[in-house]
Amino acid sequence: MRRELLREVVVPAREARTIEVEAGQVLAVVDLEGRQVGDLAAWLRDPREYLSPGHTLSCLTKLVPEVGDEIFSNHRTPLLRIVRDDVGRHDLIVPCCDPERYSRDYGLADHPSCLASLQRALAADGRDLPLEGEQCWNVFMNNRHEDGRIVTHEPEHGAGATIEMEALADLVVALSACPQDLSPCNAFDPTPMALRVYGES
Ligand SMILES: [Zn+2]
Repeated sequence: MRRELLREVVVPAREARTIEVEAGQVLAVVDLEGRQVGDLAAWLRDPREYLSPGHTLSCLTKLVPEVGDEIFSNHRTPLLRIVRDDVGRHDLIVPCCDPERYSRDYGLADHPSCLASLQRALAADGRDLPLEGEQCWNVFMNNRHEDGRIVTHEPEHGAGATIEMEALADLVVALSACPQDLSPCNAFDPTPMALRVYGES
């Protein structure tokens, strides 16, 4: 068996893109330049069932998933299994950034956000999929839990850092290269990412 790259989608800085992955294929999220966070959402064929960070935390009973762990849906169906993780830092507690994050916390009415980017990417691909901010897994986000507080640190990983997950179901996946440039989330410098799908031949 030989591993083969089937599809690659580059996600430009401050934007989002979608990709499809079938059960048995491997989905890779790649940080092309380093110190970047991606916000990832996924849906099954019936879009009422989707990746749920909250249910994943409940199923795993830990704050940060590791290699070998599964990522679950809102009906506790395992959707993805982590098979490689170069970073080991993720946040599944806070929603992705949204327009209100920037208007409420920074007084900015028109700052780009993961939620708006993801909704724009879904619409551009003609995908009528429901999305709320709490559906997003903050991949590579270096949030630490210190004395009951959630503290965002700058990411420490470098260019090419990758997480790979075996798909356990057919999924539509969307990834935002987070545009947050006002907190340490992306080391104040949003950069592009990539989605890759591998199969075996
Ligand atoms: Zn964001």
